[in-house]
Amino acid sequence: MLSVKPEELPPAEASMGPAPSIETPFPGPIAREMIKRDRRRSSPSNTRDYPLVVKRGRGCVIEDVDGNRFLDFAAGIAVCATGHCHPKVVAAIQAQARNLVHICGSDFYYPVMVELIEKLAEIAPGTAPKRVLLTNSGTEAVEAAIKLSRFHTGRKWIIAFRGAFHGRTMGSLSLTCSKAQQKQGFGPFVPMVAHVPYGDAAAIETSLFSQEMAPEEVAAVFVEPILGEGGYIVPEDSFLTDLRTLCTRHGILLVCDEIQAGMGRTGKMFAVEHVGVEPDILLVAKGLASGMPLGGMIARREIMNWPPGAQGSTFGGNPVSCAAALATIELLEGKLIENTRQLGSSALEALGAIAQQHKCIANVRGLGLMIGLDVVNRQTGKAAPDLRARILYEAFNRGIILLPCGETGIRFCPPLCINEAQLDTGLRVFDEVLATVL
Ligand code: PLP
Repeated sequence: MLSVKPEELPPAEASMGPAPSIETPFPGPIAREMIKRDRRRSSPSNTRDYPLVVKRGRGCVIEDVDGNRFLDFAAGIAVCATGHCHPKVVAAIQAQARNLVHICGSDFYYPVMVELIEKLAEIAPGTAPKRVLLTNSGTEAVEAAIKLSRFHTGRKWIIAFRGAFHGRTMGSLSLTCSKAQQKQGFGPFVPMVAHVPYGDAAAIETSLFSQEMAPEEVAAVFVEPILGEGGYIVPEDSFLTDLRTLCTRHGILLVCDEIQAGMGRTGKMFAVEHVGVEPDILLVAKGLASGMPLGGMIARREIMNWPPGAQGSTFGGNPVSCAAALATIELLEGKLIENTRQLGSSALEALGAIAQQHKCIANVRGLGLMIGLDVVNRQTGKAAPDLRARILYEAFNRGIILLPCGETGIRFCPPLCINEAQLDTGLRVFDEVLATVL
């Protein structure tokens, strides 16, 4: 059953024609020229897995500069929650841009920001009253939470998890512990940050509190409810509930980084809702504004007790981004979260069946449309990152956009407006890719 009907999808999606549709070998002539120019001037730190040069996108379909069409199973790294250029989001952006593009929310008031912070405070889990700070990005939301948790508690230590990704600015990078190369050459990092294995709440007591610091010196535990960049790992339910208990016992703030898992991606507005945990601070970004830059820190009212000037940003909570976020939330609450729940379980089942057929695929897991699997060596069952790279490239060659995660994972995080036909097509092509890639 399709919960998103064709008439609810961006109208131009149909006019773009069916996907996948591959007209040129890659990179096509215009793409090749673009990539040449990009490589001359762009930072070599960008990580491009294949030569995709995008011209436009509608819903789950993207078209490259040479007219090839792809099904998008990456959504701009789990960002385009409502699909590319959803007409309601575009209309909200256009209407806001006609009235006010910028004024600075740290210094002045404007209605669309008031509406958005009210909405975020309302939808955040738990009944306690909330306050909201808007940022431009995920990493800035993490930075704000590091500062707020130290300020509010007067404590210094921050605990995070191995495998976690919290961003790339110096504070968030100090918490990030996902790939060594993300940190190589950038130290020293923010002091008094400790890591324990993801999924192991008991390790905080056994290895940190007994050997490294007293719990009374810990300001916050930062956790991704589902590991994102670190491999789309879904922990046991007890992990988050145990963390909640531990934090409450010691007066430590529980900061849930839902920058990737939040905004409907897992089939609920926030991933912590699956286990009924109420964080002290909740962080959002990525899907929040369907691709417009926006992040947010939502904290229990009494926690956000810092004075004027303690935090601020020129662009954070930009009016156009706020308008896009309000339209996004309306669409998520309307049909898209339900669609995510339904199609997420179909996708999980179908990928499980694919894994039965192909020995190089293992550990299919996920919630909603946040699904990961591992690529392994067919003989040894060990991580096979080279094979993964070939699978990603071949999927691209056949018109399916996928991204890696973790050491050897592939993530499936399409726009939440994906329909059944698109999902079936994407998974059929993925199955064919696995049959051809050795
Ligand atoms: N936290 C999580 C869980 C993320 O997945 C990301 C980005 O991938 C970030 C933080 C950083 O967000 P941004 O790239 O917007 O700074």
